[in-house]
Amino acid sequence: MEYTSLPQALEALEKLQSTMAAYNHAMGVLSQDAATAAPAGSWEGRGRTMEVLTKAAYDLTADPQNGVLYDYLQAHVWELTPIQARELEVLKKDYDRMRRIPAREYVDYSVLLNDADAAWHKAKPANDFAAFAPYLEKIVAYCRKFAGYYNPDLDPYDALLNEYEEGMNQKTLDAFFAQLRGTIVPLVEKISRKPQIDDSFLMRHYPVERQRSFSDYLMETMGIDRNYCGIAETEHPFTNNFNNHDVRITTHYYENNLVPSMYSVIHEGGHALYELGADDCYNYTVLSGGVSMGIHESQSRFYENIIGRSRAFVHAIFPYIQSHFPEQLTGVTEEMFYRAVNKSQPSLVRTEADELTYCLHIMVRYEIEKALIAGTLEVKDVPQRWNELYKEYLGIDVPNDKEGCLQDSHWSGGGIGYFPSYALGSAYGAQMLDRMEKDLGDVFGDVAKGDLSRVTAWLREHIHHYASFKKPGELFREVCGEFDAKYYTDYLTKKFTELYEL
Ligand code: ZN
Repeated sequence: MEYTSLPQALEALEKLQSTMAAYNHAMGVLSQDAATAAPAGSWEGRGRTMEVLTKAAYDLTADPQNGVLYDYLQAHVWELTPIQARELEVLKKDYDRMRRIPAREYVDYSVLLNDADAAWHKAKPANDFAAFAPYLEKIVAYCRKFAGYYNPDLDPYDALLNEYEEGMNQKTLDAFFAQLRGTIVPLVEKISRKPQIDDSFLMRHYPVERQRSFSDYLMETMGIDRNYCGIAETEHPFTNNFNNHDVRITTHYYENNLVPSMYSVIHEGGHALYELGADDCYNYTVLSGGVSMGIHESQSRFYENIIGRSRAFVHAIFPYIQSHFPEQLTGVTEEMFYRAVNKSQPSLVRTEADELTYCLHIMVRYEIEKALIAGTLEVKDVPQRWNELYKEYLGIDVPNDKEGCLQDSHWSGGGIGYFPSYALGSAYGAQMLDRMEKDLGDVFGDVAKGDLSRVTAWLREHIHHYASFKKPGELFREVCGEFDAKYYTDYLTKKFTELYEL
């Protein structure tokens, strides 16, 4: 079908996007249900429905008719609104990419990921890297090949990085990580010679039921509207979003540790505020939702660490915490609590790492995946390289692969190039704080009163509001200027020097 007028083409564009949004919504609700409420035996029917919907969504995206539509709109791009032009850009990119991937390879790869996920779930508890290695080898080979489909003009690993953070490359990341390492490694080393902080009271018995009402309190303090944001419990916490009026976060409660769920709720709550803060005009379009993993993590890690682990925030919420858990926190002061939630000690597992050492875990993964894609590291040598890097960066010995290179699910899911977003997000957040303080003045004065309204309003105005309208690099630069890791390294140095009297 040919298009004969712009209004006709724009109507087709809107219809296409709302159909895509409906498929995504339906598949998203199914996977949310699978992870939270669905009984274990219900997988078969859901699997069939998912297969039908995935195929329909693929056909919809790769439909040659879309190419006709996009060409017509491209020829009239100067008559489009900026939002329509950006929608076209995103849609065209997905379309071109999808058309470059042979359908057979696309299907084979999703089958491989499914099998790899099952293999990883078995290999991890069994501490059996050899059983997982053949899958990882195939995933690396696919990622190398797919990188060429994603963007044939880029180095393969750069093309993979761009899947998660548009505009990112190894040159920027190499410099960024070198700067982080240069600050963090000496700090970790100095802390190791100081008396360690006592956090034993965080590991007392904290009944799940009490922790649930504590989560409600935290979400309320963050200003999350529960009318539009649900909370559920899963093995690993995550955030799922359907539109700016339907966001779901999850957490995981541990009866003998208060910290994991407390900071998961604040972290996922940060993701949720980003999604909830998007302008209504982006709903049901390809611009709906946060723009990149790096910007998303900048929001979640901003609330989790910069706000949530600040002295001001602990001051604001400690009276509630103490009245909510009176037996567990008898004799504990606000200062003791602040110090305990900031205790820094090199550890094996990324998801349990403290704020200071967290990025070192990311660097290990970055070095390894970069070398795997470049072909300078073979999959069979991953455990050895992993252990060497943990020794070099964190100064610790890795006793087994279960707590070593098998710990994360990212690679088994094909997510090569994803990890750096976590570190980037942390650094983006520190630079945003600098800008925010210049605009608002005493940010932590508000936080100390438990008032996050100006903080969230600022983030909403400069970040959340835009959903995926602006590219991540452009969005960041317009708010903060050129990206500079110095804001983050200064922030860490100041915080941990004071905390440990270095
Ligand atoms: Zn996150």
